[in-house]
Amino acid sequence: MQKNTHTQQDTAFSALLNHYKKASLRTSGIWLLIANLCFVLFLFGRDQFRVLLDPHAKVTFASTTLDDLSLTFFAFFIISLPALRFIRTRPPAMALAFLVGLYWATVFHFMLANDAQQQLVFPLFCMLIFTALIALYPTTPILYSFVAPLWLSLFVHLVFLQSGIPILQVAAILIATALFETGRIMLNRWFVLSVRRECDNKLLMSKLDNLAYNDPLTGVANRRQLDNQLEELITQTDLQGGTLSLIMIDVDFFKKYNDHYGHQAGDSCLISIADCFKQVVRQPTDLIARYGGEEFVVLLPNAVTSDAEVVASRIKKSVEKAAIPHALSQVSETVTVSQGIMQWAPGMTSLELLKRADSALYQAKHAGRNGYCVGE
Ligand code: GH3
Ligand code: MG
Ligand code: MG
Repeated sequence: MQKNTHTQQDTAFSALLNHYKKASLRTSGIWLLIANLCFVLFLFGRDQFRVLLDPHAKVTFASTTLDDLSLTFFAFFIISLPALRFIRTRPPAMALAFLVGLYWATVFHFMLANDAQQQLVFPLFCMLIFTALIALYPTTPILYSFVAPLWLSLFVHLVFLQSGIPILQVAAILIATALFETGRIMLNRWFVLSVRRECDNKLLMSKLDNLAYNDPLTGVANRRQLDNQLEELITQTDLQGGTLSLIMIDVDFFKKYNDHYGHQAGDSCLISIADCFKQVVRQPTDLIARYGGEEFVVLLPNAVTSDAEVVASRIKKSVEKAAIPHALSQVSETVTVSQGIMQWAPGMTSLELLKRADSALYQAKHAGRNGYCVGE
């Protein structure tokens, strides 16, 4: 039982975690794409800006290949932005992140091959991986899809494609990577923790709700829920013009049952009786409530008296079938119930309805118990 509850909790937690991962991706994914676009525009326009700011500056324009790449990214951005809302699963998001990462890997390659641009590569690399970290830390596979091509292109270039390994640059990249990874672990822990807290709070709320609106012994609705639901149903029936019936049920000779079998057996008997009701009503439209002590109420929306009579006779049969021995009952050898039926009429308050059902129940008791009467 406890294991089952744990599994349910774990499932609820996983579902909530996934929900928040998707929600965060929806907003931060766009932010990341726009940030990338800004970096692209910066690269595209950096030489032109310098000329604008200082017309006498000695400017070596970047390779046209880089400008072509920037334009390609810009076109890619325009196409992918409206397509973003169709990305609902992880693989296409990873593919998109990988494509953008691949773009930057190619850009790095060209910048490193062109001496004049080299000093820009490391700051750009840092800005890219840390903006990606901010946007994608809850969804590690997508984050790695973006970062891996950048990291690989830089590393391969520095370690394999240059004459002699530039130790300082490699060390700087390793430090940035270590900061990135520790930061990712830290942020992800906070994210998971906050989702776990929300999940726990939701569980607590539902437990409190359960305590506030259900009877702890039998699990059926308690008086508070009955009162609320009855008021709501009366208003609704009054406005929309439908029908509503109510059955008030009382266990026969229950005091004697308690006296003979003990209070604990009495509690078990009430649980079994409530289970009998659960088996015969229409769930979830009908409401079974513990009215108090050994009295119960069944609310039957969209039911007239004859429908309620059918339910009452089903209840009688179900209780008979349960066959709970009752040695001191004067009507049967097993536990029985008496029932009072009342149909709501326009203008009738909830109190009046309950009172009339109670009178009908009294009549059923008077008529010999183990039966039902219809109120007027
Ligand atoms: P009648 O056939 O006229 O209804 O007689 P009765 O004995 O059932 O009615 P009465 O109102 O005299 O007694 C109700 C008994 O129900 C008294 C009380 O001890 C018992 N009871 C009420 N609530 C609980 C409960 O939660 N658990 C148990 N075990 N007994 C309860
Ligand atoms: Mg009673
Ligand atoms: Mg009773």
